[in-house]
Amino acid sequence: MFKKILVANRGEIALRIQRACRELGIKAVMVYSEADRDAKYVKLADEAVCIGPAASSASYLNMPALISAAEVTDAEAIHPGYGFLSENADFAERVEQSGFQFIGPTAESIRMMGDKVSAKQAMIRAGVPCVPGSDGELPDDPVLIRRIARTVGYPVIIKAAGGGGGRGMRVVHTEAALINAVQMTKAEAAAAFGNPSVYMEKFLQNPRHIEIQVLADKFKNAVYLGERDCSMQRRHQKVIEEAPAPGIPRKLIEKIGERCAAACKKMGYRGAGTFEFLYENGEFYFIEMNTRVQVEHPVTELVTGIDIVKTQILVAAGEKLPFTQRQIQIKGHAIECRVNAEDPFKFTPSPGRITMWHPPGGPGVRVDSHIYTNYFVPPHYDSMVGKIIAYGDTRDQALARMRTALLETVVEGIQTNIPLHRELMIDTHFMTGGTNIHYLEEWLVQRKKLSA
Ligand code: ADP
Repeated sequence: MFKKILVANRGEIALRIQRACRELGIKAVMVYSEADRDAKYVKLADEAVCIGPAASSASYLNMPALISAAEVTDAEAIHPGYGFLSENADFAERVEQSGFQFIGPTAESIRMMGDKVSAKQAMIRAGVPCVPGSDGELPDDPVLIRRIARTVGYPVIIKAAGGGGGRGMRVVHTEAALINAVQMTKAEAAAAFGNPSVYMEKFLQNPRHIEIQVLADKFKNAVYLGERDCSMQRRHQKVIEEAPAPGIPRKLIEKIGERCAAACKKMGYRGAGTFEFLYENGEFYFIEMNTRVQVEHPVTELVTGIDIVKTQILVAAGEKLPFTQRQIQIKGHAIECRVNAEDPFKFTPSPGRITMWHPPGGPGVRVDSHIYTNYFVPPHYDSMVGKIIAYGDTRDQALARMRTALLETVVEGIQTNIPLHRELMIDTHFMTGGTNIHYLEEWLVQRKKLSA
């Protein structure tokens, strides 16, 4: 096992990894930018290294600074968390070339999944169902493009191979708009991702976002840890996540989960990963794979009793997965609310000094957050400041506990989206379960109309 790991991230996930290290008896080296000097996990760290100024490009995205921090502290491995360099194949490669273990898949796996065209082709080869669409990258010839769209059937969506974060996509409803849309997406993709390659998919009208968590070791053992429903999104950003997904037959989940685990074995995938699907009319359609730990991993941890971050570290150190598929049981229900420092109506970021923080507690309540009273939320990074997760034997119990938790929570000095979560937890459609990916946006439009 490793003696020392460098945590190449910040905020709640840095703290989450530090906690996993402490449990495993591993020393964690925390890195921080000048804006994160006062973070508690930095103050409480075994060792901490300043890696540069506030701007991410000069600190958390600064590969040489991170690698030298690992060198000077004699760390053996680097955990990238999520965001920042976690899905950067060049970083994974440089980490390993410098003699450290990257806690994640191989650079080759990251590269393959980072290009959505090659990811989709790998999934088709592995027998994972995908959204019907073009066979790889779209050709240049307009005649061929029109032919493909007719076969797929309108509406279609044009997506950049190098896209991410909900960017580089365009929906097309008619043939008249097709060629122009392809050309515009290509130009945008070339500018934003340095890769003009685009592909086409059928645009699904009312799907849900369902994802499968996997864990794999270096010995080609791979398991799936059930699913998460992340359909409650605003601008393609997840707001609420839960496990299991309401109303989807277990048999269907097992079938798709087994496909995902089998795909991992086939690809030689190692570490934690998530297969993201759109789910419509009882069918799953793969859209992309995330090759890292995800923000919403706690809901899966609560319903399986498996520590995903600890397992990531164990398998990176060369240990075998400590459980088999048969030993993984889904029990109860978990819901996560992402707490963002933002205006709950206008969604403008609200960084600044937290004058009062009173976290919730009690049975079945977990809080993953690095904030504290008098903490200053820096304006330089993502607005998420923590996650409140509620667990119950049933979905209703998890919802009831979440309502109480949200009622107890006090954050003063900055604005947060907790009032939004309080409203959503008593929304009849959300309470019924199974809302689609457009539900939250439509709900927000309605709320705006009602308040006008
Ligand atoms: P990104 O990497 O930018 O997050 P994804 O491929 O994961 O891109 O898609 C993001 C979101 O865009 C999905 O969660 C879904 O809301 C929407 N989307 C993507 N592909 C389709 C499709 N074929 N039909 C309908 N919606 C889609």
